[in-house]
Amino acid sequence: MSKSLQAIRGMNDILPEQTPLWRYFEGTVARLLDNYGYRQIRMPIVEFTELFKRSIGEVTDIVEKEMYTFDDRNGDSLTLRPEGTAACVRAVLEHGITGGGQVQKLWYIGPMFRHERPQKGRYRQFHQIGLEVFNLEGPDIDAELIVMTWRLWGELGLRDAVKLELNSLGTSESRGRYREALVEFLSAHLDKLDEDSQRRLKTNPLRVLDTKNADTQAVLVDAPKMADYLDDESRAHFEGLKARLDAVGIPYVINPKLVRGLDYYSKTVFEWVTDKLGAQGTVCAGGRYDGLVEQMGGKPTPGVGFAMGIERLVLMLEALDKVPEELSRQVDVYLCAFGEAAELAALSLSERIRDQLPNLRLQINAGAGSFKSQFKKADKSGALYALILGDDELAQQVVGFKPLRGQGEQQSIAWDALAAHLATCVVQG
Ligand code: ATP
Ligand code: MG
Repeated sequence: MSKSLQAIRGMNDILPEQTPLWRYFEGTVARLLDNYGYRQIRMPIVEFTELFKRSIGEVTDIVEKEMYTFDDRNGDSLTLRPEGTAACVRAVLEHGITGGGQVQKLWYIGPMFRHERPQKGRYRQFHQIGLEVFNLEGPDIDAELIVMTWRLWGELGLRDAVKLELNSLGTSESRGRYREALVEFLSAHLDKLDEDSQRRLKTNPLRVLDTKNADTQAVLVDAPKMADYLDDESRAHFEGLKARLDAVGIPYVINPKLVRGLDYYSKTVFEWVTDKLGAQGTVCAGGRYDGLVEQMGGKPTPGVGFAMGIERLVLMLEALDKVPEELSRQVDVYLCAFGEAAELAALSLSERIRDQLPNLRLQINAGAGSFKSQFKKADKSGALYALILGDDELAQQVVGFKPLRGQGEQQSIAWDALAAHLATCVVQG
């Protein structure tokens, strides 16, 4: 096939075989967030490039090398969103919904775009569910975010496969003092740092902590620790968070090297990581960004949020065999009709049944093929029952009711009694 008729590298179709699992995952998260009182917000996929530069930070992987940026026909520089926080902050400011200290607990879902090297768990169009909370500054809300994800892992059967890593980056003042100490230390070991880290030392020194380079990691063993530079307020905040996680019984490890790739974080940062996905091990990540709203032109507004990668979590459900059994069956009842008159009757009968059983998954395959081929399709659909409507059944106003999964013999059921009968034998979700 010519290249222009193929999907763009790193941007995937999600095929009908895969969508049930996606919908199960998305539905589980949406229900959970609803139950905790979070409300959905939907932002555009494209924003002014400047928005991301200002919020994410010029010297970050995303802004330096991962954004899909283009000029539109007016000559404005636009960017396909690489993450959701920037647009969400833009939206709440634009609509004034965090003004006067108003609390907002918001969540969003949708595609994000980053020009990275595609591999398992890393794509150029990927999907996140994220949430942002504005105007709550205490550690209780940081804890709520983590507690919710912990519940989610429980519902999905993933608790044993994920680990929580935590760190505190302090306020911008204490982080500034730490940055100075770190730069001084690293400058004294400049020749032992990898090239990327040497560059980052000048532009974004905290990111050196993030390095994958073994030599640089060895140098970092003796580097100053953020924990020793934390201001009292950040320290108390961090202790408050840990106490709440302990109270709920959520295990965590403190990772002093966890700095996250974006500039806007302060105080709490956290990641849920797994060893089940190879190198792409972070499934959910977030933290507090108390300075961001002000930095973007709003009043000082505390904020905290996270985002999880849907592809990685779907991969995990598959890898750990946590795909619910019932997803393999998308049809409850399959109606086969034979002959023109029976077909018409089948259509109106099926609509009557749908009126009475709106959740019934009923597929009608009127007129297509022989009895045998229709029956094969009914069986292949995974349906529990086939309904058969031919000339004889039509004359008697009945249907043949045939269990397809070995639950008894075929019987004849009057049209008027059909909905009631189906209600007793198909468990509806
Ligand atoms: P990584 O370190 O894996 O690059 P990140 O720190 O860049 O992740 P965030 O910006 O925090 O990621 O995004 C939150 C989550 O979104 C990640 O934890 C991950 O699950 C998912 N994610 C990020 N980038 C991608 C991608 N290119 N493909 C698939 N999922 C991704
Ligand atoms: Mg990344």
